[in-house]
Amino acid sequence: MSEKKTLFQKIIDGEIPSDFVYKDDICVAFRDINPKAPVHILIVPLKPIPSIMELTPKDSEMVSHLIYTAKKLAEDEACKGYRLQFNVGEKGGQIIFHLHLHLMGWR
Ligand code: AMP
Repeated sequence: MSEKKTLFQKIIDGEIPSDFVYKDDICVAFRDINPKAPVHILIVPLKPIPSIMELTPKDSEMVSHLIYTAKKLAEDEACKGYRLQFNVGEKGGQIIFHLHLHLMGWR
């Protein structure tokens, strides 16, 4: 009956430990296990949407919230500059099919 949980769903549910830096009622944020920048944080909505491809107009506020959360976390981490990235679909380099925004920052 139940669909298989993604790795990020297991992290959200506390079944797999992670280095959390933020949580609210829309998203969580934790450090990427394989950082590609001095600051590499993943901002993940609690709503289990697989990727940007599945977004509907109803999700626009949630997506704005992910971006604004990334901006605040970049400030908290004293980033002087940063990249925000969604990998979309296998061809776009996405490995985990639970929507997430990469914050990659430099101090
Ligand atoms: P993507 O290619 O956009 O799907 O990115 C998935 C990201 O998840 C990669 O940057 C991985 O390093 C990261 N990742 C994989 N497993 C974990 C984990 N257990 N905790 C934190 N980050 C992870």
